[in-house]
Amino acid sequence: ISARGRARYDINGKANRMVGMTADITESKLFEQRKDDFLSIASHELKTPVTSLKGALQLLDRIKEKPFTPMHIKLIEQANRSMDKMSVLVDDLLNMNRLTEGNLKLQKSTFTISEMLNLCCNHVRMEGKFELIVEGDKDLQVYADEHRIDQVVVNFVNNAVKYAADSEKIYLKIDKIDQYARISVKDQGPGIPAHVLPHLFDRYYRVNHDSQNYTGLGLGLYICSEIIKRHDGEIGVESEIGAGSTFWFTLPLFPNT
Ligand code: ADP
Repeated sequence: ISARGRARYDINGKANRMVGMTADITESKLFEQRKDDFLSIASHELKTPVTSLKGALQLLDRIKEKPFTPMHIKLIEQANRSMDKMSVLVDDLLNMNRLTEGNLKLQKSTFTISEMLNLCCNHVRMEGKFELIVEGDKDLQVYADEHRIDQVVVNFVNNAVKYAADSEKIYLKIDKIDQYARISVKDQGPGIPAHVLPHLFDRYYRVNHDSQNYTGLGLGLYICSEIIKRHDGEIGVESEIGAGSTFWFTLPLFPNT
């Protein structure tokens, strides 16, 4: 028998009290629980300073009459890039906590997929060289949580930018398959070995890229798959070494589209 506590948070994301529970759990479960609780508290505590630092850096980036030298500008850009990476890590941790605590609530509405994809392209920081192309059925509508679906697409695109950096084009495609919409993100990167494909959506799974040290926790695709499962859709990947990867998911169509 063991007692454990779980942090509760106020609306600003600050831990403000602990709720105690007693349960008969094994040592490994207790370890898992402690790890989850630690990650939960750490990510909530990190969220506020990360958000405020990000805001300050973006402001610096936008100041028109910059009294800065090229060296200052380079440092600000570098800080912005690191900040983006850090904020993805914190968001991944927070979303993972929401999932393990059963707090990922969906707020559904009806929306047109192509409009969401076009908006989504504006959010992604492309650093110049990529071209994002939206193609396929422009009129399909779904009844889903637009913010969460946008999160899945942004995750796929960010992964393409990160792991398929030699792509020139990234295609975002919408297809109708029976009563489902299929949304896919296709890159022209190095591709993924067949033996790791079945594990990509597992929690904490990462591929070891010998030559590169990419930042990440192996949570992005796991979170995407949980979001899509909660929408009664499917998620998957097709990839071939040297020919790029296509990450896709399906969503039930809003009736009559
Ligand atoms: P993370 O990016 O934090 O490692 P993800 O769950 O987003 O976690 O991705 C899991 C793994 O899938 C990554 O470590 C990467 O090796 C691989 N991956 C994801 N997207 C691509 C892609 N477009 N091309 C090649 N590999 C990819």
